[in-house]
Amino acid sequence: MSATLNMILGDPVRRANLERRFWVKVDRRRPDECWPWLKPAKNGYGIFSLSSTRTTNAHRVAWALRNGPIRERTIIRHSCDNPACCNPAHLVPGTQLDNVSKGDEGVRFSKVAGPRGRR
Ligand SMILES: [Zn+2]
Repeated sequence: MSATLNMILGDPVRRANLERRFWVKVDRRRPDECWPWLKPAKNGYGIFSLSSTRTTNAHRVAWALRNGPIRERTIIRHSCDNPACCNPAHLVPGTQLDNVSKGDEGVRFSKVAGPRGRR
């Protein structure tokens, strides 16, 4: 069986290897810009080969390298609506349910970022 992303992240040597292979395929721009995936994509989403037999979505790798292993059934969404984007600052974990029910993410994100009123 080939290793999953979380298995690779748990091994410092393989993780360092993956990190090196991964970021050369991403056009890393300014922190607030989208970082486009430069390699093969499917439906607009970057495809990254974990091994000769296993691929995963590039943006999931980008998020996991910054934040750690992705829990089962967690999906990683784009706050920027750009499927090819691999900027961890534009990636947010959620569930399939969130994705369906929350609708316009732009609106929701501006609310999250707003000031917290406290008396
Ligand atoms: Zn983006």
